[in-house]
Amino acid sequence: MIFRNPAGAPELACDGCGCRWFDRMTGSCYECGTPVAAQALAEYRQALDAFAATKRDSAATMASPCPAPSSSSPTR
Ligand SMILES: [Zn+2]
Repeated sequence: MIFRNPAGAPELACDGCGCRWFDRMTGSCYECGTPVAAQALAEYRQALDAFAATKRDSAATMASPCPAPSSSSPTR
């Protein structure tokens, strides 16, 4: 299952116990040993990509609050 943390980032959680601790070596839950479904992993990667894209967009808009004076100001 996938849920979002307070920052809006996707978190992959165990379908069996709902915890977020996974053994990356075996791809299964530390707590109850439930294997991570390939579909859940794919969804998680997609959610991560989407989140990264939104962060990139907001960072780009926040980085330029006003137009650059050098390129937009007319020469006098
Ligand atoms: Zn579990």
